[in-house]
Amino acid sequence: MIGILAIQGGVEEHEGVLDELGCSHKRVASLADVEGLTGLIIPGGESTVMELFMEKYGLKKWLVERAQDPDFVVLGTCAGLILLARYGLLDVTVERNAYGRQVASFTADVEVRGVGTVAGHFIRAPKITGVGAGASVLADWEGLPVVVRQGKVWGISFHPELAGSTRLHAAIFSC
Ligand code: GLN
Repeated sequence: MIGILAIQGGVEEHEGVLDELGCSHKRVASLADVEGLTGLIIPGGESTVMELFMEKYGLKKWLVERAQDPDFVVLGTCAGLILLARYGLLDVTVERNAYGRQVASFTADVEVRGVGTVAGHFIRAPKITGVGAGASVLADWEGLPVVVRQGKVWGISFHPELAGSTRLHAAIFSC
């Protein structure tokens, strides 16, 4: 059962992709929802808002502990990537909104190693400005990493769920 953090942000689009893949999923808005989860998606949205409520509801502490299990899968897209970097779950540094404002949003075909080409929507996306020894880069775009992975924790600068592609989710979640 894959949880999708449902405080705010692009929850439905991830649900659609998981439905297509036949993965069971549930929304996570509080600690009452986390039992039995094998993974968690933190969607795009507003990282400041999600961080505030994750902290308030005890979900930050839960996730940081739960992610120590090497079999627990975590995917953070866009704002979700920012949180994974802040929580020390991905050994990367990020700069918020560094691809430009909402009006500067764009779509790019990104070649992801071992996965294939994925159409990525960049919407006020964070730039990955540094990658530590713990993380590996699976895709770059214009010279900067945009898909990183550390064990079963994945961070993606863009939104793979908006283009109708299931490739990345299929590679990340085995269901
Ligand atoms: N700009 C947002 C943030 O900093 C992220 C945007 C997104 O998730 N599409 O939280």
